[in-house]
Amino acid sequence: MHNREMINTIQDKIKISKKLKEKAIEEGFTIAGIASIPGGSRLKLRTYALERWLSNNHHAEMKWMEAERRKNINSLLNDAKSVLSVGFTYINSQNKNNNRLKIGKFSQGEDYHKVIEKKLKNIGKWINFEIPDCKWKICIDTSPLLEKAWAEESGIGWIGKNSNLISKKNGSWFTLGFMILTKDLIPDEPHQSLCGKCDICIERCPTNAIVEPFVIQSDLCIAYHTIENREKTIPKNIEENLNGWVAGCDICQDVCPWNKSVPYNNSFETTPKEWIKNLSIDSLNWDDETWKKNLKGTTLKRIKPWMWKRNIKANLKNNRIKI
Ligand code: SF4
Ligand code: SF4
Repeated sequence: MHNREMINTIQDKIKISKKLKEKAIEEGFTIAGIASIPGGSRLKLRTYALERWLSNNHHAEMKWMEAERRKNINSLLNDAKSVLSVGFTYINSQNKNNNRLKIGKFSQGEDYHKVIEKKLKNIGKWINFEIPDCKWKICIDTSPLLEKAWAEESGIGWIGKNSNLISKKNGSWFTLGFMILTKDLIPDEPHQSLCGKCDICIERCPTNAIVEPFVIQSDLCIAYHTIENREKTIPKNIEENLNGWVAGCDICQDVCPWNKSVPYNNSFETTPKEWIKNLSIDSLNWDDETWKKNLKGTTLKRIKPWMWKRNIKANLKNNRIKI
């Protein structure tokens, strides 16, 4: 059978499913897996857990998370049959610096949305050629898909008690991307949780934001307040625990045993920007234009210049960083 024709037999499905995942790795993703829609029982449990999290208002001001469409993958693409989940490793050997103003590793390089989208589009072109009757849709972060649950369903990792997706080989230093497909492919086994009895992330979170395993109460989380909080001030209990964090917080990932010795991705896309490596309190004197120039092309532009200043000042106020 010509590979451009309909994929009918199981053997063809196995072959094209394997080739699709190989193509993802070739494009620069670290991991790739496939899930079948509508997914298994664990996906339903994750959906219920999301509903509970929302009804407890743990998402604070992130109201977009309430979108009903997050729970229904078919609303994103008609006749969707499979999901390709991919992980892009962002940890770079240059992340290890002693900067006193700390920035989450995931945001130190290029904006991962753009990096992942470009790679997924290349996979889409490949699909157009190899499986021409297959329609596809890319989802990254902003799309209303229950991302981590689908990644777990695709077998690329499990949702850890710190709510990050963890891979046995690559830890949790990766961002996720998805492609929904109208082709029925061979799914991978959903990943089992390997957190076991470990509770380190819960114990080490300085603000006790992990209120129970898998549940982050956003208004107690440093990452939430430094990135999403649009108020003029940061609550005192957060401010006192900033300890240098001005954009994000990596503590619950830094302490995770699965992140101990994971491979770096030292590509140009993940290399920290020079201004990030050298960020100091001098940045309090930068004008908006300088901030704009520096933030261009990064996810950090979500944090407005006045928020950067608020976050840096909040650290200074509590004498948590040395000048
Ligand atoms: S990101 Fe920081 S504050 Fe938020 S849950 Fe993790 S350790 Fe706690
Ligand atoms: S620190 Fe322990 S409990 Fe937390 S995510 Fe990692 S393995 Fe799971």
